Amino acid sequence: MEYQAFLVKYAEIGLKGKNRGMFEDALLRQIRRSLRAVSGRFEVTKASGRIYVHANTAYDYDETVEALTRVFGVSAICPMIQFDTQDPEEVYRRAVAYMAEAYPDRKKTFKVETRRINKNFPVGSQDMNAELGEVLLNAYPELSVDVHHPDILLQVELREKVNIYSHTIPGPGGMPVGTNGRAMLLLSGGIDSPVAGYMIAKRGVVIDAVYFHAPPYTSERAKQKVVDLAKQVSLYAGPIRLHVVNFTDVQLCIYETCPHDELTIIMRRYMMKIAEQLAEQDESLALITGESIGQVASQTIQSLAVTNEVCHLPVFRPLIGFDKKDIVEIAQKIGTFETSILPYEDCCTIFVAKHPVTRPILKAIVRSEELLKGKIEPLVEEALATVETIEVGM
Ligand code: ATP
Ligand code: MG
Repeated sequence: MEYQAFLVKYAEIGLKGKNRGMFEDALLRQIRRSLRAVSGRFEVTKASGRIYVHANTAYDYDETVEALTRVFGVSAICPMIQFDTQDPEEVYRRAVAYMAEAYPDRKKTFKVETRRINKNFPVGSQDMNAELGEVLLNAYPELSVDVHHPDILLQVELREKVNIYSHTIPGPGGMPVGTNGRAMLLLSGGIDSPVAGYMIAKRGVVIDAVYFHAPPYTSERAKQKVVDLAKQVSLYAGPIRLHVVNFTDVQLCIYETCPHDELTIIMRRYMMKIAEQLAEQDESLALITGESIGQVASQTIQSLAVTNEVCHLPVFRPLIGFDKKDIVEIAQKIGTFETSILPYEDCCTIFVAKHPVTRPILKAIVRSEELLKGKIEPLVEEALATVETIEVGM
């Protein structure tokens, strides 16, 4: 079947009252961005609370649907046949052909639902429902009408052009990226943080990212893995500025100075501090991590509290109550899982103690950090001054 256009439905942004125009425009921008990677040319328009994607050239259907299902704010996508006519007979002919192609098996119930927006069209919506219903029953005796719970809801829109559709492909939901400010994702090569970034982007937030790299303890391949993860997230979230921080000297300084069972927690506090400074430069209003209560020693509630204590910005932890299996499910759905499980080393695992504290006491940690005074500040400065920023995504 050749579909000439798509109706793009949105849900939540419809509730935004006076801001609705702004939300719709952001959605249009994101749809256009996502379609740029698809072969074919499209025109994206809005008309009375609906968004349409028209194909101006031949295009790849699967690629197009995939691109549209990645746009946050989209609740559903309906592929439509679209044609120019004022002649009801032409509508009947097209609808009959549509049913044949769209439903090879027509032992089904159906209902026609017409909306006449073009008041010059010579048949009213009730009459169209009745007459087209009749035409279809005559053409396909195996069909039957069910006005309450039809298998097929055949929608006919009489606008400037005529649209016919009946299939609904679910979208990702959420809000269009760009409607909710910017936040800084702490992106490691693991399974969790890409999912965390995806979930916050889904609420309309533009994502920047920071990766703490520890060469030569972590390899170029480990860094490339993070770039690849950022790329995959950017298919949904849009372009991502990925800051790569050389964290080696800071880590070594902590390693040489502080009790080894406290390394992870102190390292995590420094990650947060540095991420926060980068967030300030990028005008990000929050940090995002992939933490989940109890997953590892550094994510007990005590550890989370001690880590959080250094932060001034809000820290979003969208996975905080998720089981690993649920996180893995999302990672698989969004296409980050395969990359995340590649076995390259992570800067945290290299300096990790055999028996890290699982119930750190803030006072004790702060006392250990006192030992770093005078030594670590220039190293943090240096790490910030030598950040490499990689622009990822379109
Ligand atoms: P992930 O799967 O996201 O790596 P994890 O289960 O391995 O998480 P941790 O290593 O304790 O857990 O990290 C917790 C969070 O801290 C991560 O989700 C991520 O947001 C951040 N983080 C950890 N390591 C790094 C790193 N090298 N660079 C940037 N952020 C990191
Ligand atoms: Mg990790």
